[in-house]
Amino acid sequence: MSEPKKLPEQTFIQQDGPVFMSGNQAYLRLVFEQHRRDHEAGLNTGGFISGYRGSPFGHFDQDARRVGKALAARNITFNPGVNEAMAATTIWGSQQVDFFGETEYDGVIGLWYGKGPGVDMAADALHHANLWGTHRNGGVVMAVGDDPMSRSSSIQQQSEFVLSGLCIPVMHASSVQDIYDYGLIAYQMSRYAGVWVAVKSVSDIAESWYMVDVDPERTRTVLPDDFEMPECGVHIRWPDSSVDQDYRMANARIPALKAFIRANKLNRVTLDARQRRLGIVTAGKSYLDTLEALEDLGIDEKQRDALGLSVFKVAVTWPLEETLLREFAASVDELIVLEESRPFLETQLKNVLYDMPAEQRPRVMGKCDFDGREQLPSNGELTPALISRVLVNWFSQHLSSESMHRWIGVLDQTDREIEVPREHVDRTPYFCSGCPHNSSTKVPDGGNQLIGIGCHYLVHLMGRDGVSYTQMGGEGATWAGAAPFVKQKHAFANLGDGTYYHSGSTAIRQAIASKINITYKILFN
Ligand code: SF4
Repeated sequence: MSEPKKLPEQTFIQQDGPVFMSGNQAYLRLVFEQHRRDHEAGLNTGGFISGYRGSPFGHFDQDARRVGKALAARNITFNPGVNEAMAATTIWGSQQVDFFGETEYDGVIGLWYGKGPGVDMAADALHHANLWGTHRNGGVVMAVGDDPMSRSSSIQQQSEFVLSGLCIPVMHASSVQDIYDYGLIAYQMSRYAGVWVAVKSVSDIAESWYMVDVDPERTRTVLPDDFEMPECGVHIRWPDSSVDQDYRMANARIPALKAFIRANKLNRVTLDARQRRLGIVTAGKSYLDTLEALEDLGIDEKQRDALGLSVFKVAVTWPLEETLLREFAASVDELIVLEESRPFLETQLKNVLYDMPAEQRPRVMGKCDFDGREQLPSNGELTPALISRVLVNWFSQHLSSESMHRWIGVLDQTDREIEVPREHVDRTPYFCSGCPHNSSTKVPDGGNQLIGIGCHYLVHLMGRDGVSYTQMGGEGATWAGAAPFVKQKHAFANLGDGTYYHSGSTAIRQAIASKINITYKILFN
Protein backbone atom coordinates (compact mmCIF):
# COMPACT_ATOMS: atom_id res chain seq x y z
CA MET A 1 0.00 0.00 0.00
CA SER A 2 1.41 3.39 -0.92
CA GLU A 3 1.84 6.17 1.63
CA PRO A 4 -0.79 8.96 1.48
CA LYS A 5 0.56 11.87 -0.56
CA LYS A 6 2.13 14.54 1.62
CA LEU A 7 0.70 18.02 1.10
CA PRO A 8 3.26 20.79 0.54
CA GLU A 9 1.80 22.57 3.58
CA GLN A 10 2.00 19.47 5.82
CA THR A 11 4.93 20.89 7.80
CA PHE A 12 2.88 23.95 8.63
CA ILE A 13 -0.45 22.39 9.57
CA GLN A 14 0.28 18.93 11.01
CA GLN A 15 -1.06 18.79 14.55
CA ASP A 16 0.07 15.43 15.87
CA GLY A 17 3.49 14.17 16.80
CA PRO A 18 6.77 15.99 16.46
CA VAL A 19 7.15 17.72 13.09
CA PHE A 20 10.49 17.92 11.29
CA MET A 21 11.17 21.50 10.22
CA SER A 22 13.89 24.08 9.77
CA GLY A 23 14.20 27.29 11.76
CA ASN A 24 12.92 29.19 8.70
CA GLN A 25 9.90 26.91 8.53
CA ALA A 26 9.21 27.23 12.26
CA TYR A 27 8.84 30.99 11.76
CA LEU A 28 6.49 30.49 8.81
CA ARG A 29 4.42 27.92 10.69
CA LEU A 30 3.65 30.54 13.36
CA VAL A 31 1.14 32.33 11.12
CA PHE A 32 -0.59 29.08 10.12
CA GLU A 33 -0.86 28.00 13.74
CA GLN A 34 -1.97 31.36 15.14
CA HIS A 35 -4.58 31.53 12.39
CA ARG A 36 -5.81 28.02 13.28
CA ARG A 37 -6.05 28.89 16.96
CA ASP A 38 -7.88 32.14 16.24
CA HIS A 39 -10.49 30.44 14.09
CA GLU A 40 -10.94 27.71 16.67
CA ALA A 41 -11.60 30.50 19.19
CA GLY A 42 -14.13 32.14 16.85
CA LEU A 43 -11.90 34.98 15.61
CA ASN A 44 -11.94 35.67 11.89
CA THR A 45 -8.33 36.77 11.44
CA GLY A 46 -6.30 37.09 8.27
CA GLY A 47 -2.53 37.13 8.00
CA PHE A 48 0.12 39.30 6.33
CA ILE A 49 3.72 38.22 5.84
CA SER A 50 6.43 40.48 4.50
CA GLY A 51 10.18 40.86 4.78
CA TYR A 52 13.34 40.53 2.75
CA ARG A 53 15.29 37.36 2.08
CA GLY A 54 18.96 36.77 2.83
CA SER A 55 20.81 34.35 5.04
CA PRO A 56 19.80 33.02 7.49
CA PHE A 57 16.41 33.41 5.78
CA GLY A 58 17.67 31.98 2.53
CA HIS A 59 14.74 29.67 1.86
CA PHE A 60 11.91 31.50 3.64
CA ASP A 61 10.53 32.98 0.39
CA GLN A 62 10.73 29.64 -1.39
CA ASP A 63 8.89 27.87 1.43
CA ALA A 64 6.19 30.54 1.53
CA ARG A 65 5.72 30.40 -2.25
CA ARG A 66 5.54 26.61 -2.19
CA VAL A 67 2.53 26.83 0.14
CA GLY A 68 1.02 29.88 -1.54
CA LYS A 69 -2.35 28.17 -2.10
CA ALA A 70 -2.59 27.04 1.53
CA LEU A 71 -1.80 30.58 2.69
CA ALA A 72 -4.35 32.13 0.34
CA ALA A 73 -7.01 29.64 1.47
CA ARG A 74 -6.56 31.05 4.97
CA ASN A 75 -6.59 34.69 3.85
CA ILE A 76 -2.90 35.00 4.62
CA THR A 77 -1.14 37.31 2.18
CA PHE A 78 2.52 36.72 1.39
CA ASN A 79 3.92 39.96 -0.01
CA PRO A 80 7.75 40.16 0.13
CA GLY A 81 9.06 43.70 0.55
CA VAL A 82 11.13 45.66 -1.94
CA ASN A 83 13.34 46.01 1.12
CA GLU A 84 13.00 45.50 4.87
CA ALA A 85 11.77 49.04 5.56
CA MET A 86 8.95 48.79 3.02
CA ALA A 87 8.11 45.35 4.39
CA ALA A 88 7.80 46.81 7.90
CA THR A 89 5.61 49.62 6.62
CA THR A 90 3.22 47.23 4.87
CA ILE A 91 2.91 45.17 8.05
CA TRP A 92 2.23 48.35 9.99
CA GLY A 93 -0.74 48.77 7.65
CA SER A 94 -1.96 45.26 8.44
CA GLN A 95 -2.64 46.44 11.99
CA GLN A 96 -4.84 49.30 10.70
CA VAL A 97 -7.83 47.30 9.44
CA ASP A 98 -10.18 49.36 11.61
CA PHE A 99 -9.08 52.64 10.00
CA PHE A 100 -10.73 52.21 6.63
CA GLY A 101 -14.41 51.61 7.21
CA GLU A 102 -15.91 48.17 6.98
CA THR A 103 -13.91 44.98 7.23
CA GLU A 104 -14.92 41.38 7.65
CA TYR A 105 -11.77 40.64 9.64
CA ASP A 106 -11.37 40.74 13.42
CA GLY A 107 -7.64 41.40 13.03
CA VAL A 108 -4.57 40.53 10.95
CA ILE A 109 -1.63 38.43 12.15
CA GLY A 110 1.59 40.09 10.98
CA LEU A 111 4.97 38.45 10.40
CA TRP A 112 8.11 40.38 9.38
CA TYR A 113 11.31 38.54 8.47
CA GLY A 114 14.82 39.80 7.84
CA LYS A 115 18.47 39.52 8.78
CA GLY A 116 20.36 41.79 11.17
CA PRO A 117 21.29 44.47 8.59
CA GLY A 118 17.62 44.46 7.58
CA VAL A 119 16.69 45.47 11.13
CA ASP A 120 19.21 48.32 10.90
CA MET A 121 17.91 49.33 7.49
CA ALA A 122 14.25 49.27 8.57
CA ALA A 123 14.79 50.95 11.94
CA ASP A 124 12.79 54.09 11.20
CA ALA A 125 9.80 52.17 9.88
CA LEU A 126 9.99 49.68 12.75
CA HIS A 127 10.23 52.47 15.30
CA HIS A 128 7.14 54.20 13.94
CA ALA A 129 5.14 51.02 13.55
CA ASN A 130 5.99 49.79 17.03
CA LEU A 131 5.14 53.11 18.65
CA TRP A 132 1.81 53.06 16.88
CA GLY A 133 1.29 49.54 18.17
CA THR A 134 -0.66 46.47 17.17
CA HIS A 135 -4.31 45.56 16.77
CA ARG A 136 -5.85 43.77 19.75
CA ASN A 137 -6.72 40.75 17.57
CA GLY A 138 -3.73 41.02 15.23
CA GLY A 139 -0.21 41.25 16.59
CA VAL A 140 3.18 41.32 14.90
CA VAL A 141 6.12 38.97 15.32
CA MET A 142 9.49 39.74 13.79
CA ALA A 143 11.64 36.84 12.62
CA VAL A 144 15.13 38.27 13.12
CA GLY A 145 18.18 36.33 11.95
CA ASP A 146 21.57 37.45 13.25
CA ASP A 147 24.93 36.40 11.87
CA PRO A 148 27.28 37.12 14.82
CA MET A 149 30.39 35.95 12.94
CA SER A 150 29.46 37.72 9.65
CA ARG A 151 29.91 34.45 7.77
CA SER A 152 27.44 35.60 5.16
CA SER A 153 27.10 39.30 5.92
CA SER A 154 29.11 42.50 5.69
CA ILE A 155 29.09 43.13 9.47
CA GLN A 156 28.78 41.07 12.65
CA GLN A 157 25.30 41.42 14.06
CA GLN A 158 23.66 41.68 17.46
CA SER A 159 20.23 43.13 16.75
CA GLU A 160 19.00 43.37 20.32
CA PHE A 161 20.74 46.72 20.78
CA VAL A 162 18.81 48.25 17.87
CA LEU A 163 15.56 46.48 18.72
CA SER A 164 15.60 47.58 22.36
CA GLY A 165 16.31 51.13 21.17
CA LEU A 166 13.09 50.88 19.16
CA CYS A 167 11.23 49.58 22.25
CA ILE A 168 10.68 46.23 20.54
CA PRO A 169 10.84 43.34 23.03
CA VAL A 170 13.33 40.63 22.13
CA MET A 171 12.91 36.89 22.65
CA HIS A 172 16.15 35.03 22.01
CA ALA A 173 15.65 31.48 20.73
CA SER A 174 18.21 28.80 21.51
CA SER A 175 16.73 26.14 19.21
CA VAL A 176 14.17 25.56 16.46
CA GLN A 177 11.81 24.42 19.21
CA ASP A 178 12.27 27.79 20.91
CA ILE A 179 11.57 29.65 17.66
CA TYR A 180 8.22 27.90 17.48
CA ASP A 181 7.33 28.14 21.17
CA TYR A 182 8.55 31.70 21.63
CA GLY A 183 6.91 32.78 18.38
CA LEU A 184 3.46 31.66 19.48
CA ILE A 185 3.94 33.20 22.93
CA ALA A 186 5.16 36.35 21.17
CA TYR A 187 1.80 36.73 19.41
CA GLN A 188 0.04 36.63 22.78
CA MET A 189 2.48 39.21 24.14
CA SER A 190 2.04 41.38 21.09
CA ARG A 191 -1.73 41.38 21.49
CA TYR A 192 -1.66 41.87 25.23
CA ALA A 193 0.90 44.69 25.34
CA GLY A 194 0.22 46.21 21.90
CA VAL A 195 3.83 45.97 20.69
CA TRP A 196 5.77 44.24 17.95
CA VAL A 197 7.81 41.34 19.35
CA ALA A 198 11.10 40.14 17.85
CA VAL A 199 12.01 36.46 18.02
CA LYS A 200 15.71 36.46 17.31
CA SER A 201 17.85 33.47 16.39
CA VAL A 202 21.43 33.29 15.16
CA SER A 203 22.28 31.64 11.82
CA ASP A 204 23.26 28.32 13.40
CA ILE A 205 19.74 28.02 14.83
CA ALA A 206 17.63 29.59 12.07
CA GLU A 207 19.29 27.37 9.46
CA SER A 208 19.15 24.13 11.45
CA TRP A 209 16.48 21.41 11.39
CA TYR A 210 14.73 19.80 14.34
CA MET A 211 11.84 17.55 15.34
CA VAL A 212 9.55 20.17 16.86
CA ASP A 213 6.95 19.28 19.47
CA VAL A 214 3.85 21.18 18.29
CA ASP A 215 1.62 20.42 21.27
CA PRO A 216 -0.38 23.65 21.92
CA GLU A 217 -0.09 23.06 25.68
CA ARG A 218 3.57 24.13 25.46
CA THR A 219 2.60 27.65 24.51
CA ARG A 220 -0.56 28.24 26.48
CA THR A 221 -0.28 31.54 28.34
CA VAL A 222 -2.18 33.26 31.13
CA LEU A 223 -2.99 36.93 31.53
CA PRO A 224 -1.36 38.70 34.49
CA ASP A 225 -3.52 39.11 37.58
CA ASP A 226 -1.13 41.51 39.32
CA PHE A 227 -1.38 44.25 36.71
CA GLU A 228 -4.15 46.65 35.85
CA MET A 229 -4.04 47.94 32.31
CA PRO A 230 -3.88 51.77 32.40
CA GLU A 231 -6.88 53.62 30.99
CA CYS A 232 -4.90 54.83 27.97
CA GLY A 233 -4.76 51.24 26.70
CA VAL A 234 -2.02 49.86 24.48
CA HIS A 235 -3.45 49.20 21.02
CA ILE A 236 -3.21 51.02 17.71
CA ARG A 237 -5.70 53.83 17.10
CA TRP A 238 -6.45 56.77 14.85
CA PRO A 239 -6.24 59.69 15.46
CA ASP A 240 -3.12 59.44 17.58
CA SER A 241 -0.11 61.58 18.46
CA SER A 242 3.59 60.92 18.94
CA VAL A 243 3.48 62.34 22.48
CA ASP A 244 0.67 59.96 23.47
CA GLN A 245 2.46 57.04 21.82
CA ASP A 246 5.60 57.64 23.82
CA TYR A 247 3.57 57.96 27.01
CA ARG A 248 1.77 54.69 26.31
CA MET A 249 5.05 52.90 25.58
CA ALA A 250 6.63 53.92 28.88
CA ASN A 251 3.59 53.77 31.13
CA ALA A 252 1.40 51.04 29.72
CA ARG A 253 3.12 48.79 27.19
CA ILE A 254 6.44 48.06 28.89
CA PRO A 255 4.83 47.52 32.32
CA ALA A 256 2.25 45.25 30.62
CA LEU A 257 5.04 43.30 28.93
CA LYS A 258 6.87 42.76 32.19
CA ALA A 259 3.66 41.64 33.88
CA PHE A 260 3.10 39.13 31.07
CA ILE A 261 6.66 37.79 31.35
CA ARG A 262 6.26 37.48 35.12
CA ALA A 263 2.84 35.81 34.98
CA ASN A 264 4.06 33.19 32.51
CA LYS A 265 7.52 32.79 34.08
CA LEU A 266 9.06 33.12 30.63
CA ASN A 267 12.51 33.58 32.19
CA ARG A 268 13.13 30.60 34.42
CA VAL A 269 15.47 28.11 36.06
CA THR A 270 15.98 25.14 33.74
CA LEU A 271 18.65 23.24 35.69
CA ASP A 272 18.53 23.37 39.45
CA ALA A 273 20.60 22.25 42.42
CA ARG A 274 19.27 21.04 45.76
CA GLN A 275 20.90 23.99 47.45
CA ARG A 276 21.83 26.85 45.18
CA ARG A 277 25.19 28.58 45.48
CA LEU A 278 26.39 29.32 41.94
CA GLY A 279 24.15 30.65 39.19
CA ILE A 280 24.49 30.88 35.42
CA VAL A 281 22.29 33.37 33.54
CA THR A 282 22.24 32.85 29.80
CA ALA A 283 20.10 33.07 26.65
CA GLY A 284 19.94 32.03 23.00
CA LYS A 285 22.62 29.84 21.49
CA SER A 286 24.88 30.53 24.47
CA TYR A 287 22.37 28.56 26.55
CA LEU A 288 22.98 25.50 24.36
CA ASP A 289 26.74 26.11 24.39
CA THR A 290 26.59 26.24 28.20
CA LEU A 291 24.74 22.92 28.41
CA GLU A 292 27.28 21.38 26.05
CA ALA A 293 30.18 22.78 28.10
CA LEU A 294 28.71 21.29 31.29
CA GLU A 295 28.35 17.94 29.59
CA ASP A 296 31.90 18.07 28.19
CA LEU A 297 33.20 18.84 31.67
CA GLY A 298 31.32 15.87 33.08
CA ILE A 299 29.19 18.05 35.37
CA ASP A 300 26.33 15.67 36.05
CA GLU A 301 23.48 16.09 38.51
CA LYS A 302 25.63 14.92 41.42
CA GLN A 303 28.40 17.39 40.64
CA ARG A 304 25.85 20.14 40.06
CA ASP A 305 24.48 19.50 43.53
CA ALA A 306 27.98 19.51 44.97
CA LEU A 307 28.61 22.88 43.32
CA GLY A 308 25.12 24.18 44.07
CA LEU A 309 24.91 25.12 40.40
CA SER A 310 21.68 26.33 38.76
CA VAL A 311 21.03 27.67 35.27
CA PHE A 312 18.57 30.52 34.62
CA LYS A 313 17.47 30.78 30.99
CA VAL A 314 16.29 34.19 29.83
CA ALA A 315 13.68 33.98 27.07
CA VAL A 316 12.92 37.71 26.88
CA THR A 317 16.25 39.52 26.90
CA TRP A 318 14.63 42.95 26.63
CA PRO A 319 12.95 44.33 28.62
CA LEU A 320 14.55 42.31 31.40
CA GLU A 321 11.85 41.48 33.95
CA GLU A 322 13.13 42.22 37.46
CA THR A 323 11.16 40.03 39.89
CA LEU A 324 12.05 36.60 38.49
CA LEU A 325 15.68 37.58 38.10
CA ARG A 326 15.97 39.06 41.60
CA GLU A 327 14.42 35.92 43.11
CA PHE A 328 17.04 33.81 41.38
CA ALA A 329 19.91 36.16 42.20
CA ALA A 330 18.97 36.22 45.87
CA SER A 331 19.25 32.42 45.97
CA VAL A 332 22.92 32.25 44.84
CA ASP A 333 26.22 33.63 46.16
CA GLU A 334 27.95 34.04 42.82
CA LEU A 335 26.58 34.48 39.36
CA ILE A 336 27.94 34.49 35.80
CA VAL A 337 26.28 35.87 32.67
CA LEU A 338 27.11 33.92 29.51
CA GLU A 339 26.15 35.61 26.25
CA GLU A 340 27.70 36.08 22.83
CA SER A 341 28.95 39.40 21.42
CA ARG A 342 28.71 42.60 23.46
CA PRO A 343 27.30 42.46 27.00
CA PHE A 344 23.57 43.05 26.67
CA LEU A 345 22.05 40.92 29.41
CA GLU A 346 24.95 41.54 31.77
CA THR A 347 24.53 45.32 31.76
CA GLN A 348 20.79 45.08 32.34
CA LEU A 349 21.24 42.44 35.03
CA LYS A 350 23.73 44.53 36.99
CA ASN A 351 21.31 47.43 36.84
CA VAL A 352 18.47 45.25 38.13
CA LEU A 353 20.54 43.85 41.01
CA TYR A 354 22.25 47.08 42.01
CA ASP A 355 19.73 48.15 44.65
CA MET A 356 19.12 44.71 46.14
CA PRO A 357 20.01 44.44 49.84
CA ALA A 358 23.74 43.74 50.08
CA GLU A 359 23.21 40.44 51.94
CA GLN A 360 21.05 39.14 49.05
CA ARG A 361 23.06 40.49 46.13
CA PRO A 362 25.44 37.93 44.56
CA ARG A 363 28.84 38.71 43.08
CA VAL A 364 28.43 38.98 39.31
CA MET A 365 30.85 38.24 36.52
CA GLY A 366 30.48 37.95 32.77
CA LYS A 367 32.80 39.31 30.14
CA CYS A 368 35.26 40.02 32.99
CA ASP A 369 36.00 37.89 36.04
CA PHE A 370 35.52 39.02 39.64
CA ASP A 371 38.87 40.83 39.49
CA GLY A 372 37.96 42.76 36.35
CA ARG A 373 40.15 40.71 33.98
CA GLU A 374 38.63 39.94 30.60
CA GLN A 375 37.65 36.28 30.36
CA LEU A 376 35.20 36.19 27.44
CA PRO A 377 35.24 38.15 24.17
CA SER A 378 32.77 40.99 23.58
CA ASN A 379 32.67 40.30 19.86
CA GLY A 380 31.66 37.29 17.81
CA GLU A 381 30.14 34.15 19.25
CA LEU A 382 30.92 31.97 22.23
CA THR A 383 31.78 28.30 21.91
CA PRO A 384 31.42 25.43 24.38
CA ALA A 385 35.25 25.33 24.59
CA LEU A 386 35.50 29.01 25.56
CA ILE A 387 32.76 28.59 28.14
CA SER A 388 34.35 25.39 29.50
CA ARG A 389 37.60 27.16 30.33
CA VAL A 390 35.82 29.98 32.17
CA LEU A 391 33.61 27.56 34.09
CA VAL A 392 36.58 25.42 35.15
CA ASN A 393 38.39 28.46 36.55
CA TRP A 394 35.26 29.27 38.53
CA PHE A 395 34.24 25.78 39.61
CA SER A 396 37.79 24.87 40.68
CA GLN A 397 37.46 27.32 43.56
CA HIS A 398 34.58 25.21 44.89
CA LEU A 399 35.15 21.65 43.67
CA SER A 400 37.98 19.49 42.46
CA SER A 401 36.85 17.27 39.63
CA GLU A 402 38.93 14.90 37.55
CA SER A 403 36.51 14.99 34.60
CA MET A 404 36.80 18.78 34.34
CA HIS A 405 40.57 18.73 34.21
CA ARG A 406 40.55 15.82 31.78
CA TRP A 407 38.42 17.86 29.37
CA ILE A 408 40.62 20.94 29.71
CA GLY A 409 43.54 18.65 28.83
CA VAL A 410 41.71 17.67 25.63
CA LEU A 411 41.10 21.34 24.76
CA ASP A 412 44.76 22.21 25.43
CA GLN A 413 45.92 19.37 23.22
CA THR A 414 43.55 20.49 20.43
CA ASP A 415 44.85 24.06 20.67
CA ARG A 416 48.44 22.82 20.43
CA GLU A 417 47.62 20.77 17.35
CA ILE A 418 45.89 23.72 15.68
CA GLU A 419 48.98 25.86 16.25
CA VAL A 420 51.32 23.42 14.46
CA PRO A 421 52.28 25.01 11.11
CA ARG A 422 51.02 22.94 8.22
CA GLU A 423 51.75 22.67 4.56
CA HIS A 424 48.49 23.70 3.01
CA VAL A 425 47.00 24.90 -0.23
CA ASP A 426 45.18 28.23 -0.15
CA ARG A 427 41.64 28.00 -1.44
CA THR A 428 41.09 31.29 -3.21
CA PRO A 429 37.38 32.12 -3.38
CA TYR A 430 36.05 32.36 -6.91
CA PHE A 431 32.76 32.79 -8.71
CA CYS A 432 30.85 29.75 -9.95
CA SER A 433 31.80 28.76 -13.45
CA GLY A 434 29.44 30.39 -15.92
CA CYS A 435 28.51 33.21 -13.54
CA PRO A 436 28.50 36.60 -15.31
CA HIS A 437 30.47 38.05 -12.38
CA ASN A 438 33.52 36.25 -13.80
CA SER A 439 33.79 38.82 -16.56
CA SER A 440 31.63 41.72 -15.36
CA THR A 441 33.83 42.45 -12.36
CA LYS A 442 36.99 42.96 -14.41
CA VAL A 443 38.14 46.57 -14.70
CA PRO A 444 40.39 48.19 -17.33
CA ASP A 445 44.10 48.34 -16.47
CA GLY A 446 44.81 51.10 -13.99
CA GLY A 447 41.20 51.33 -12.80
CA ASN A 448 39.72 50.17 -9.55
CA GLN A 449 36.23 49.37 -8.38
CA LEU A 450 34.11 50.02 -5.34
CA ILE A 451 32.76 46.77 -4.00
CA GLY A 452 29.07 45.97 -3.61
CA ILE A 453 27.00 43.59 -1.51
CA GLY A 454 26.58 40.18 -3.10
CA CYS A 455 28.83 37.43 -4.41
CA HIS A 456 30.74 40.07 -6.36
CA TYR A 457 32.14 41.13 -2.98
CA LEU A 458 34.65 38.34 -3.69
CA VAL A 459 36.62 40.61 -6.05
CA HIS A 460 38.19 41.86 -2.84
CA LEU A 461 39.77 38.42 -2.34
CA MET A 462 40.54 37.78 -6.01
CA GLY A 463 43.08 40.51 -6.76
CA ARG A 464 40.68 42.50 -8.94
CA ASP A 465 41.48 45.97 -7.61
CA GLY A 466 38.48 46.26 -5.33
CA VAL A 467 38.40 49.14 -2.84
CA SER A 468 36.21 49.26 0.28
CA TYR A 469 32.52 48.40 0.44
CA THR A 470 29.32 49.85 1.86
CA GLN A 471 26.06 48.73 3.40
CA MET A 472 23.53 47.23 0.99
CA GLY A 473 22.22 50.06 -1.16
CA GLY A 474 25.03 52.53 -0.51
CA GLU A 475 27.23 51.29 -3.36
CA GLY A 476 29.28 54.05 -4.94
CA ALA A 477 28.09 56.81 -2.60
CA THR A 478 31.38 56.72 -0.69
CA TRP A 479 33.05 58.08 -3.83
CA ALA A 480 31.09 61.33 -3.37
CA GLY A 481 32.87 61.85 -0.05
CA ALA A 482 36.34 60.75 -1.20
CA ALA A 483 36.54 62.17 -4.75
CA PRO A 484 37.02 65.86 -3.81
CA PHE A 485 40.12 64.97 -1.80
CA VAL A 486 42.05 62.42 -3.91
CA LYS A 487 43.96 62.52 -7.20
CA GLN A 488 42.04 59.63 -8.75
CA LYS A 489 39.49 61.08 -11.19
CA HIS A 490 37.04 58.25 -11.73
CA ALA A 491 35.73 55.12 -10.04
CA PHE A 492 33.75 52.07 -11.06
CA ALA A 493 31.07 50.82 -8.67
CA ASN A 494 29.59 47.34 -8.72
CA LEU A 495 25.90 47.11 -7.91
CA GLY A 496 24.03 43.81 -7.97
CA ASP A 497 20.64 43.71 -9.66
CA GLY A 498 19.03 42.52 -6.40
CA THR A 499 20.61 45.38 -4.50
CA TYR A 500 19.53 47.84 -7.22
CA TYR A 501 15.93 46.72 -6.62
CA HIS A 502 16.32 46.75 -2.81
CA SER A 503 17.73 50.26 -2.37
CA GLY A 504 20.73 50.69 -4.68
CA SER A 505 18.84 52.97 -7.07
CA THR A 506 19.01 55.61 -4.31
CA ALA A 507 22.82 55.44 -4.37
CA ILE A 508 22.74 56.19 -8.10
CA ARG A 509 20.50 59.20 -7.43
CA GLN A 510 23.02 60.34 -4.81
CA ALA A 511 25.87 59.98 -7.32
CA ILE A 512 23.97 62.11 -9.85
CA ALA A 513 23.08 64.69 -7.20
CA SER A 514 26.75 64.79 -6.11
CA LYS A 515 27.92 65.25 -9.73
CA ILE A 516 30.68 62.68 -9.29
CA ASN A 517 32.59 60.92 -12.05
CA ILE A 518 31.56 57.31 -11.61
CA THR A 519 30.58 54.35 -13.76
CA TYR A 520 28.03 51.97 -12.27
CA LYS A 521 28.06 48.39 -13.40
CA ILE A 522 24.68 46.80 -12.67
CA LEU A 523 25.57 43.15 -12.38
CA PHE A 524 22.91 40.76 -13.68
CA ASN A 525 23.33 37.15 -12.72
S1 SF4 B 1 25.92 35.03 -8.14
FE1 SF4 B 1 27.40 33.89 -9.36
S2 SF4 B 1 28.99 33.32 -7.90
FE2 SF4 B 1 27.19 33.87 -6.71
S3 SF4 B 1 26.11 31.94 -6.37
FE3 SF4 B 1 25.23 32.90 -8.17
S4 SF4 B 1 26.34 31.99 -9.86
FE4 SF4 B 1 27.57 31.60 -8.02
